[in-house]
Amino acid sequence: MKLQNVVLTEEPGDARWDLEILDGVLQTKEATKAARDVPSDILLPPLCHPHIHLDKPYIFTCNHAPSDRHPDYSDLAPQSGSFGEALANTSKAKGRYTAEDLHLRGSQLLATSHQQGVTSMRAFVELDHVTGTLPLQAAIRLKQDFSHLVHVQICAFAQDPVFSTEHGEKNRSTIETALRDLGSFVDVLGSTPYVEQSEPDSIKNVDWAIRTAMEHGLHLDFHLDYNLDSSATFLVESVIGLLEEHQWTRRADQTKTIVIGHCSHLTTLPSGRIRDMASRVRQQSLPLHFVGLPTSDLFMMGRPAEKQTRPYSRPRGTLQVASMIQDFGLSACLGVNNVGNAFTPYGTGDPLQLACWGVGLYQAGTVGDAELLFSCVSSRARDAIGLSNVGYERVLKEGCRWRPMLLIENVKMMSLKPKPGHADFLIPARPRISIKDIVWDPPETSLRSVVG
Ligand SMILES: [Zn+2]
Repeated sequence: MKLQNVVLTEEPGDARWDLEILDGVLQTKEATKAARDVPSDILLPPLCHPHIHLDKPYIFTCNHAPSDRHPDYSDLAPQSGSFGEALANTSKAKGRYTAEDLHLRGSQLLATSHQQGVTSMRAFVELDHVTGTLPLQAAIRLKQDFSHLVHVQICAFAQDPVFSTEHGEKNRSTIETALRDLGSFVDVLGSTPYVEQSEPDSIKNVDWAIRTAMEHGLHLDFHLDYNLDSSATFLVESVIGLLEEHQWTRRADQTKTIVIGHCSHLTTLPSGRIRDMASRVRQQSLPLHFVGLPTSDLFMMGRPAEKQTRPYSRPRGTLQVASMIQDFGLSACLGVNNVGNAFTPYGTGDPLQLACWGVGLYQAGTVGDAELLFSCVSSRARDAIGLSNVGYERVLKEGCRWRPMLLIENVKMMSLKPKPGHADFLIPARPRISIKDIVWDPPETSLRSVVG
């Protein structure tokens, strides 16, 4: 493979390179021979979804023609858009899943992600008394189908209570049985302590998840503290306490990480408490990472109470990922969570679009911030889910092992329909030459056109 006239973003100056890759190794790297007016392309480490739900994308946007194989979900479109409605409608959707439907929607998510530049992901599939192992079996097939393009890490996920309600015990046994029978395909155990009906049950959920992950040698992933109630218990502290109690750093597989998603409650805490938590993580050397999921959080959080005297006062808490890294030394990254369903009924799931929104969300507008936000959907995301970043250096050297990279192509001219009597209508395109150009102005993944 030859790549000609590419910018490597951490090389000094405006150098452009010709690269030749043979037998999985970068053989030669030379200053380009391309003419100066030929637009260069830009070569970047690929993108990673650290948190995406593989079984429930496109429930509202799949537009299946209803059949036995492909259910109709159109009656489940949001009416209030509330969190309770999202949970209830997703439960109804799960009751309609078929193997063909899960495979088709999952394939569409994986194909779109790959076109957007994603080469690795942590894919959540729910296992409970309604779905049984159907979503897990679909994920196993999808992982095999796409193994040459995307590294799919499967997370066996308890979205529903595993201790509360009449279904808790069955939900728990469904996961435990799946781990016993299909555990060789599972990389991660995920759970949602906030859906339990009492705080003691939430703590039992955390304790069960830690013990079960350690027993099966799995990564651990929590949907946690998804509220903006400053009087609520901050369960991250309980997670850290139980990880200490179970001696995770001594007894667990040291290649496995712990990830905490959502965690919007953290935005209500004073800085001293966040600092204390960060120092506990460091003291214990816990491989703990936070993943901000702002597209879902902004849709779900901060809805006004009824009869509110200030109806437009809507604090929309989402993890302040950039500050958590820069000011508190925490490990954090960004994920899209959902696409086209009750939790996030909008967007394309593009990680670069997510990084772009981070500029506004976190008021992070410097060139250095753009570098940080890109890392949150690339190297920091891979770190969070325990994948190696070897081979993804942006300063590539001859002899280094080659791994798939993200190539952003520049065009020289934008070509528009000319006026009658004119041959053409060409506008010089703005070249993208650095990470800020990609984060501030994410490229389209396919050509768009205006007809008529
Ligand atoms: Zn999620």
